[in-house]
Amino acid sequence: MSYAIYPGSFDPITLGHLNIIRRASKIFDNVVVCVMVNSGKVSPMFSLEERVGQIKRVVSRLPNVTVECSDELLVQFSERYEKPVIVKGLRAVSDFESEFQMALINKKMNHKVETLFLAASEKYTYLSSTMVKEMGKYGADLSEFVPHEILEEIVARTKSK
Ligand code: ADP
Repeated sequence: MSYAIYPGSFDPITLGHLNIIRRASKIFDNVVVCVMVNSGKVSPMFSLEERVGQIKRVVSRLPNVTVECSDELLVQFSERYEKPVIVKGLRAVSDFESEFQMALINKKMNHKVETLFLAASEKYTYLSSTMVKEMGKYGADLSEFVPHEILEEIVARTKSK
């Protein structure tokens, strides 16, 4: 069995994230979406439980995708799986530097853990969770940015912030 581990803060999950999850689910037997607690991002808009719940709703029709969360280092979390491959989405050169550094550190900690980069779909290269939160604050239409299953929840929360 092959396992892709897809980590992130997903605050909230966007169509860009979902695009990577779908594509990884066609390459690997299993995809484990891992909501990271210690992602370095302070005060998330959605609690860990809310983010896990949102992602579970969004991926419910993808049979080989599961959702977990972790307060460990990503490498420690990945070691629970057989031959884990960390999957990352790359939007632009700006993502590359920190992602490359993380991949090298993870490899140093456990040489068996590989990192695979998937190029973001051209359609979503501009999309980030931060942008969704910012647009939502000003009442912009978010339907092209977040999965429909969680649209109302995202609109309600971002508006109130
Ligand atoms: P963000 O950078 O939007 O806050 P996360 O920290 O949750 O997102 O990122 C999780 C992973 O998803 C990272 O590998 C990130 O590069 C990737 N990612 C984020 N947005 C997109 C997108 N629009 N297209 C492809 N990959 C993305």
